[in-house]
Amino acid sequence: MTQHRRITGRLVIATHNPGKLAEMRELLAPYGVDAVSAGELGLAEPEETGTTFQSNARIKAIAASTATNLPAFADDSGLAVDALNGQPGIHSARWAGPSKDFTAAMTRIERLMQEHGATQPAQRKAHFVSALCVAWPDDHLEEVEARVDGQLVWPPRGDAGFGYDPAFLPDGHSRTFGEMTSIEKHGLPPHGMGLSHRAKAFVKLAEMCLEH
Ligand code: IMP
Repeated sequence: MTQHRRITGRLVIATHNPGKLAEMRELLAPYGVDAVSAGELGLAEPEETGTTFQSNARIKAIAASTATNLPAFADDSGLAVDALNGQPGIHSARWAGPSKDFTAAMTRIERLMQEHGATQPAQRKAHFVSALCVAWPDDHLEEVEARVDGQLVWPPRGDAGFGYDPAFLPDGHSRTFGEMTSIEKHGLPPHGMGLSHRAKAFVKLAEMCLEH
């Protein structure tokens, strides 16, 4: 049986994305982990040269762990649209450009979907993916991945969350992630349903690496 390593003491959250940082902090809060972010420590953002979510999560976690000599926790995530052969995928952040304009990114996706004739709900399937990696200074890694399935709506609805949340309607729900509270989107039982890709991946990681 694989021996998983527990997260104890101080942990660096290897993200400069404020939306993700807030979610990762909320997910870690019940476990009493002393979390500090890469942004707060002034760490440089590594170039995401991987070709998968998992490899990019690994690059970010290893860079932060190496720079601080502490265990580091990274997420690489994104939106994959079926009608666009999985785009924007690992380029989800890049599609918003340097000004991080997600209205423009959602508009671009919608324009491409219209060009592909993806107008009916069944043709508008998409999923979010979250790959999580914890890297330790001695090169030990723990890795998990999870997804949440849904469809894209147009126009976007709601102003909660971040990124593509207002355009994403998770299966079995009538409100987009942009219309949900943070507890509904990524809260864990007993308060939430562990609905989002990041929450689902986190549940797996918590079983492996966090004290209950
Ligand atoms: P990363 O920093 O390269 O992992 O960028 C991930 C990008 O995917 C984010 O900037 C968002 O655009 C998008 N994304 C990931 N997770 C979510 C989410 O939970 N809601 C909305 N957009 C997300």
